[in-house]
Amino acid sequence: MAKKPLLEFTDRGIYCAKGKFYIDPWKPVDDAVITHAHADHAYMGHKHYLAHHLSREVLLYRLGEINLRTVEYGETVMKNGVSVSLYPAGHVIGSAQIRVEHKGEVWVVSGDYKVENDGISTPFEPVKCHHFISECTFGMPVYQWKPQVQTFNEINNWWRGNLHNGVATVLVGYSLGKAQRILQNLDLFNGKVYTHGVIENTNEALLRNGVLLNPTARITPESSKEEVRKGIILAPPSSVGTPWMRKFQPYSFGYCSGWMAIRGAKRRRAADRGFVLSDHADWDGLISAIDATGCESVYLTHGYTATFSRYLNEIGFDAHEVHTLYGDEEEEEAPSQPPPEGEELNSLKKVSPSGGDLEGAGVL
Ligand SMILES: [Zn+2]
Ligand SMILES: [Zn+2]
Repeated sequence: MAKKPLLEFTDRGIYCAKGKFYIDPWKPVDDAVITHAHADHAYMGHKHYLAHHLSREVLLYRLGEINLRTVEYGETVMKNGVSVSLYPAGHVIGSAQIRVEHKGEVWVVSGDYKVENDGISTPFEPVKCHHFISECTFGMPVYQWKPQVQTFNEINNWWRGNLHNGVATVLVGYSLGKAQRILQNLDLFNGKVYTHGVIENTNEALLRNGVLLNPTARITPESSKEEVRKGIILAPPSSVGTPWMRKFQPYSFGYCSGWMAIRGAKRRRAADRGFVLSDHADWDGLISAIDATGCESVYLTHGYTATFSRYLNEIGFDAHEVHTLYGDEEEEEAPSQPPPEGEELNSLKKVSPSGGDLEGAGVL
């Protein structure tokens, strides 16, 4: 009889039967190892959680009082004879890949990751393994990121232009990861940074965790519109089109997302400017990351799994598509719908389940 694999895909999530734990399960379980605090990876209702130390305060803020143990990168935890350790995924602050080892067999679960060093998340580290379970949100050749410094130059120039034109500047990015990455790269000589409450709460959680961030001011009903107009407003996707955002009119509204790399994406979000900025690996990043693991087989959990696994098989990898409920926080609170016909650069449809990120439902 064939040996049971160390990790398997179940209707609750990725499961290790030997170690009796799940990785990023989407249904309640006894023992959950969590890659990072985005809502499609960190669900409520588990009895025990294990995550990276820098995810601690955000998890507590988002999930309430949970039974949480945190570890540093590289620290090993034994679970029923199986060793579990976390390695940097470079996706957002505190994000981790999960390495699972038993009797010399090694699996790594990527969670979400990017390979560019964003200056605030511990940079991605490839981990050698036999089997690699990888996301592929942007697993299409059209997705190629520029170095972030170029994108931030565009953003800072746009902000200066808005100041010159006397309009407010509203920049949208999801609240965990993108917002802090933007904050740390804004040119603060331009003015002050004002935040929506969801972003400010996330920043405060990270500060409690010892993360150093540039100063921000929470927007409240008392905030002076004239003062706010002289700065920049950081807002989550859930605020787009709401009365909260409209009260800053006239404004220019920019949207930061990897999806801005395709035509039509900016218009669909009614944004004035689209900035290509993603916390996921681009096409080359995915391939280099998978290659660097030296893995025998790769399992693709979310994104363009069909296209990407076909390509990997063509270039000699043993690649498989698996079905999971991981979504796409780039579309946070705006669940991804397939773009209208003809708007993608080719006809391949996005495969990822359309759950989106559930932040809006849980903690707003
Ligand atoms: Zn994520
Ligand atoms: Zn995700």
